[in-house]
Amino acid sequence: MAKTNPRIKKVPQRSCVGCRVKKDKSQLIRVVRTPEGRLEVDLKGKSSGRGAYICPDTECLQKAVKNKGLNRALGVQLDDDLLVELTNQVKKHEHKS
Ligand SMILES: [Zn+2]
Repeated sequence: MAKTNPRIKKVPQRSCVGCRVKKDKSQLIRVVRTPEGRLEVDLKGKSSGRGAYICPDTECLQKAVKNKGLNRALGVQLDDDLLVELTNQVKKHEHKS
């Protein structure tokens, strides 16, 4: 008779490195430092490595750069290439929803 409880699906939450607000992982953009030490924007959330999460919001991106939240989360200095790509991705997603 028991065991009728539906499994509660737990959505993983991550906090944005810019505004520090916790959100569903799927609503954030992931930046990852690969085991080779490269930085990339990981849109599928599948790359292995150390990751940081940020809202698709240019304000958050600016905050994260200013307060070094991204650097801290990733443990490295951001390079310009990544920043350009990240800015593009943030802008792309910002206007979607
Ligand atoms: Zn944010």
